[in-house]
Amino acid sequence: MPKDFLQGIAPEYDAVVIGSGLGGMTAANILGRAGHRVLLLEQHYKLGGLATWFRRPGGHIFDISLHGFPHGMIKSCRRYWNSDIADRIVQLKNIRFENPMFSLRTTFNREDFTRLLTTRFGLAPETVSAFFDTARGMNFYDDQTTSTGELFQQFFPGREDVVRLLMEPITYANGSTLEDPAITYGIVFSNFMSKGVFIYEGGTDDLVARMQRQLRENNVDIAIRSPVEKIEVGGSRVQAVHVGGRRIATRAVVSNANLKSTVLHMLEPQHLPQDYREEAEAVRLNNSSTQVYMALKPDASIDEDSGDLLFTSTAPLFRTEALLSRQITSRTFSFYYPRTRPDKKQRYAIVSSTNANWTDWAELNKADYEASKQDLIETTLDALDQYVPNIHEMVDWVEAATPRTFNHYTQHQLGASFGTKFEGLAVSRALPQQIAGMYHAGSVGIIMSGWLGAMNYGVIVSNEVDQFLCRQPAPA
Ligand SMILES: Cc1cc2nc3c(=O)[nH]c(=O)nc-3n(C[C@H](O)[C@H](O)[C@H](O)COP(=O)(O)OP(=O)(O)OC[C@H]3O[C@@H](n4cnc5c(N)ncnc54)[C@H](O)[C@@H]3O)c2cc1C
Repeated sequence: MPKDFLQGIAPEYDAVVIGSGLGGMTAANILGRAGHRVLLLEQHYKLGGLATWFRRPGGHIFDISLHGFPHGMIKSCRRYWNSDIADRIVQLKNIRFENPMFSLRTTFNREDFTRLLTTRFGLAPETVSAFFDTARGMNFYDDQTTSTGELFQQFFPGREDVVRLLMEPITYANGSTLEDPAITYGIVFSNFMSKGVFIYEGGTDDLVARMQRQLRENNVDIAIRSPVEKIEVGGSRVQAVHVGGRRIATRAVVSNANLKSTVLHMLEPQHLPQDYREEAEAVRLNNSSTQVYMALKPDASIDEDSGDLLFTSTAPLFRTEALLSRQITSRTFSFYYPRTRPDKKQRYAIVSSTNANWTDWAELNKADYEASKQDLIETTLDALDQYVPNIHEMVDWVEAATPRTFNHYTQHQLGASFGTKFEGLAVSRALPQQIAGMYHAGSVGIIMSGWLGAMNYGVIVSNEVDQFLCRQPAPA
């Protein structure tokens, strides 16, 4: 008999959260802590969404999206999870850039960037200061017509090298481009610049295990391998979710799944106004990624001087299209030293990440797909060799992920790594006005993506759901 993953699940909840990404788990945790009866449904066999990891023989563990997040995660984790989690967040101090325009190291905060921009790049301190203040002053309600490219032109006209330093890491961090609204850049950049780049010591597996424990302590029921097929609506309000052939009644739904899948697939069209559906259809998805995971033999090691994060590019100039091209010129290498998992086997790993287009991978037949993955692995090892000599001989395990991999594990359309482009935010925010009790909290609009953005979006939405539930007494 196949295992019933919905065994023990009640027929009715105050709130059902669809998807256990950081946004979904945080929303579920806050609602559970507030005393609501909450069910968390995840289609995959483990929690975390894109905040995930996998194990391979030899004690190797690879993190998929643990490369860096802003300092704000400490506060969010302390407030909405617990101090155990918050206290394990540590700074990455050695961020490197290697490209034809410059080679430098930084702690990636305002102080150090000011030093670099004024001494190395020769900019006037007042210009640098004004730029930082402008970026930090940006918020969601600001002018959305100025693009990031225009913002750079305003402060650093003709300085392609400065644009590269300021933009390249953010493009890696959330797929934003020079054409996106400047606020998507300003908010994320300022978040990082406040104190630098941080990661979770212990690895994603440890983080998600701690979150899962706390969810249980807050009485959140959890079912994995449970893909929600449909959200039932009646009388313009949410009534139930349909999962694994069962109907689970609920007063509120928070979907952490991809915005477009939520609006256009899980909800039936007759429940949404035509213009809202059209707006959702027009939302552009963000780009996807490829990654190469490399684990070193137990007796091999990497000098810590190699850096924590290494942004490399062989392209002469910074261009968004080049970052997405199948002809890879840019790679970000994340170095995982044994201190990443101090309590586990002392292993070194390197993950190379590159932004990618779904279309370059989607239609490949099996043989071409395998050959392309192999090519990705070989070219990545070759590229890494100049920073970690003899890497070919040092690796114990190597494999690659493509946009198809991300789509397979998370159901994100086009394997989107960072949800949707900016316009997705308005569609996500407007959902509860279309259907009472229906909410979305997942990567959208660049600002609400990444570990911190997704988690904070879960916080915002769960507070709204809490108010909604408190306004409507539970049915007898
Ligand atoms: C390669 C890569 C590297 C990244 N690196 C970083 C980084 O260094 N720093 C950073 O801050 N961010 C990084 N990110 C982005 C970050 O991981 C995500 O923005 C964030 O984790 C997304 O969280 P989320 O809440 O939007 O949900 P997601 O992680 O997108 O999870 C959505 C969940 O919904 C589930 N789901 C979907 N459909 C259904 C359904 N029908 N029923 C039930 N469940 C469903 C999925 O299985 C998934 O678990 C990276 C992303 C990628 C792909």
